[in-house]
Amino acid sequence: MIIAIDGPAASGKGTLAKRLADHLGYACLDTGLLYRAVARDVALRGFRLEDTWAAVSAARGLVPASFDDPALRGTAAGDAASIVAKIPAVRAALLAYQRDFAAQPPGAVLDGRDIGTVVCPNADVKIFVTASPEIRARRRFAEFEARGAGVAYETVLADILARDARDAGRADAPMAKAADAMLLDTSNLGIEAAFDAVVGLIKRKISH
Ligand code: C5P
Repeated sequence: MIIAIDGPAASGKGTLAKRLADHLGYACLDTGLLYRAVARDVALRGFRLEDTWAAVSAARGLVPASFDDPALRGTAAGDAASIVAKIPAVRAALLAYQRDFAAQPPGAVLDGRDIGTVVCPNADVKIFVTASPEIRARRRFAEFEARGAGVAYETVLADILARDARDAGRADAPMAKAADAMLLDTSNLGIEAAFDAVVGLIKRKISH
């Protein structure tokens, strides 16, 4: 069983993916971490993020154990990730790892931007999680405030809008809802209600 969860930054897709995987006893892969790790490794080696050769060799040499690196969290790492994510050869280099992960029994939950469209077009369940940019920015802003990071709400919103535009506007595997994905708008939905909606969908799929 493969569950594909896509959506923009701060839509709640990561939290939902982890809750579902825990509930079902499946493995869970936050595919954004792959792109974040590629960007980190390119920068650590002293190359520009737009350098295709450096980014592809970082993608080919990726070490999954390094995905726990706290340096991969945060806005700067996400922005850097969205720059290497535009390079088609980087995306191609990360495909096999994601597909192998998805194929493991008894099942896997993958979250990202192109899981339902490109990585696992035959996923059993596809969900596209979204929320208005303002609500997503409020969520991120609240997380930053809780950590004592002095970032203005306007800065967080501008970052979310810029990242949405880059991810949805790129030529290769843009962020998009698969035609057969369920649209889940979490603007006015708490995590519990979102979780219940998706569990309901999975139960319906399994019974068919
Ligand atoms: O989900 P997260 O914010 O960690 O992703 C960071 C960036 O990685 C995204 O903005 C996007 O550019 C890229 N990404 C992608 N495809 C995925 C997952 C993430 O292009 N499946």
